[in-house]
Amino acid sequence: MQLRFALMDHSLIPEPLLKEPHPLLQKISEFTTNPSQPINPSFQLSSELQSYLSGRSLLVDELPFSIHTLHEHYMNGYILYEQGVNKGQCHRCGNNKPHLFATFHCSRCHTGCTYCRNCIMMGRVSECTPLIRWNGPEPDSPPGTFDWTGTLSEAQKAASEQMISAVKANNDLLVWAVCGAGKTEVLFEGIDEALRQNKRVCIAAPRTDVILELSPRLKKVFPQTKVTTLYGGSEERHSYGQLVLSTTHQLYRYKEAFDVMIIDEVDAFPYSYDSSLQGAVEKARKPQSSIIYLTATPDQKTQQECARGKRNFIGIPARFHRHPIPLPKFVWCDLWKKSLKKNRIPLALKKWVSIRLQQSKQALIFFPTVDLMEKALPLFQDMHPLIESVHAEDPKRKEKVMKMRQGEIPILLTTTILERGVTIPNIDVAVLGAEEKIFTESALVQIAGRVGRSADYPTGDIVYFHYGRTREMIKALLHIDQMNKEAEKRGLLHGH
Ligand SMILES: [Zn+2]
Ligand SMILES: [Zn+2]
Repeated sequence: MQLRFALMDHSLIPEPLLKEPHPLLQKISEFTTNPSQPINPSFQLSSELQSYLSGRSLLVDELPFSIHTLHEHYMNGYILYEQGVNKGQCHRCGNNKPHLFATFHCSRCHTGCTYCRNCIMMGRVSECTPLIRWNGPEPDSPPGTFDWTGTLSEAQKAASEQMISAVKANNDLLVWAVCGAGKTEVLFEGIDEALRQNKRVCIAAPRTDVILELSPRLKKVFPQTKVTTLYGGSEERHSYGQLVLSTTHQLYRYKEAFDVMIIDEVDAFPYSYDSSLQGAVEKARKPQSSIIYLTATPDQKTQQECARGKRNFIGIPARFHRHPIPLPKFVWCDLWKKSLKKNRIPLALKKWVSIRLQQSKQALIFFPTVDLMEKALPLFQDMHPLIESVHAEDPKRKEKVMKMRQGEIPILLTTTILERGVTIPNIDVAVLGAEEKIFTESALVQIAGRVGRSADYPTGDIVYFHYGRTREMIKALLHIDQMNKEAEKRGLLHGH
């Protein structure tokens, strides 16, 4: 489809709709003024288009509507044609780094046309690509029921109330909740409050696993609310959601859509490392809106901002079951890499493993690299044939985690991919080579957070096997200790 425009009577007319040839056809990026039309209140808008496009910013190719339909809505003020790429800036993903643009000879505008390489996986946005935006009213969404009968712990309740106030006042809030605090339940009342005010809510998380886990839980709690679940390849991307669950990448397709955005695991890769994803969050929120950030392990800068009162935050320092988080032990593990090279499990770790096997207690052992782990696996299988390993690219990853949950694997070796999200009751956890760079404070806190999560088994052993303790290890220990002390001080632990 040709996508140049002619400017006629203060309107942009797409080339295919011109009745006769126009002397000046231009790329959308070449217009210095971008005229929009006044809303015509007597126009019969398409409610399908309204649902599809509301709060979003899409390519013509992403819209299952004819250019006639789109243009009719433009002429009546319900659609905006916006520039995709101009002046070294991509308006979909926010990219403005020169090396992330390229120029090609474009068959649409018949010139050299610059496009954004940063978001190319979502379809090409170039200088002649308009982004289509809804400019009319949002679809009606009558508030549905709130089907939740659980109870919140004292600490959860306090956080839930803070969230409700933030939602009401369109403020931002950071919820700093320890692993196992029950942070999802903390969100329910705040989401309900927002939906009752007819606000649109988004929960974004970096990992698809998290989104897939949250989706059925929220659909159950808000059974009449339109919930849309978005991740790479999901089927629901065409429907309007009053409550949208999305991986952070999918947010690129939204613009000024949400009154409340909940960003889960703000500290987690890739969100914290990619400023354009932060830009996507800013783009997707409405100018008057509230962002709720959730994290168990805020970075140093955020921790300092909280300590100095520069951030609106609330801590949930205790787990929902009111037991302290087990503190990691540091165990010296001499020349462990050398041992593995000589096909020996380092002695201290071997002892730890055989005790677990004798007691039939399940365990996770974290390795710094896939290579070292794969090298070590047969040595561990000599100790017990059912010991397994798992890493990010492992095709049997889901299956193995499932088997671990069902108790069919006694000990699972893993890379840091299992540092978050995995809950297995009654396990012990070890880290081999805790001094390695990949084990940051945040990773070590998350790993320790795997232990003692269930109310039936609130304790467990967490050991950092190391060849020289690092600052990160010490910071992780202090972090957990500080949370426990704060929980005790606030009377959030058993016996207080
Ligand atoms: Zn882009
Ligand atoms: Zn072009």
